Amino acid sequence: MSLKSICVFCGASPGARPVYHEAAETLGRSLAERGVTLIYGGGAVGLMGVVADAALAAGGEVIGIIPQSLERAEIGHKGLTRLEVVDGMHARKARMAELADAFIALPGGLGTLEELFEVWTWGQLGYHAKPLGLLDVDGFYARLTDFLDHLVAERFVREQHRDILQVGESPSELLARMEAWRPTAAPKWVERG
Ligand code: AMP
Repeated sequence: MSLKSICVFCGASPGARPVYHEAAETLGRSLAERGVTLIYGGGAVGLMGVVADAALAAGGEVIGIIPQSLERAEIGHKGLTRLEVVDGMHARKARMAELADAFIALPGGLGTLEELFEVWTWGQLGYHAKPLGLLDVDGFYARLTDFLDHLVAERFVREQHRDILQVGESPSELLARMEAWRPTAAPKWVERG
């Protein structure tokens, strides 16, 4: 699957350790070097700003989508290829999903998790057939991936739906897995009785 644009979800905070900053920078640069357009939340703060700046510095195209209400808090990035200001959070997520061929989550907080899980449930329901990736920087997501395996073992999530989310420790490893991923037509797991 050739990925021309990728939406990155990540913290509006920088996190506690420099590894997060470094990972965001590496991912932004890797996308630009591959000619992949970066779609993201449009902010200039935290890891959001870092990934956008790195992609722009490497000559990449970056499109930001920011709700009007957050433009001040997250400081709409002024140097993007394009910044779209939309009406609210739902419009932001819908627009990012429309523009992107795939989605990657870097380390982040509640907003990052919410965005990742929502787009994942859309994939599970067959609303789209786009791959998702989790960049597991220095084991940041290890406890989450353990819990996801638990969901599969306890038969609340199908293996095929778990596999919509590929995991990698570096952008190149993760992007290779996402490109190799093929959608399956497994229906959502619903057992009656
Ligand atoms: P966080 O991971 O909490 O630092 O947030 C990262 C990004 O997610 C920021 O751009 C937030 O504006 C965004 N965000 C926060 N809450 C939500 C939400 N409920 N749905 C979608 N995005 C959100």
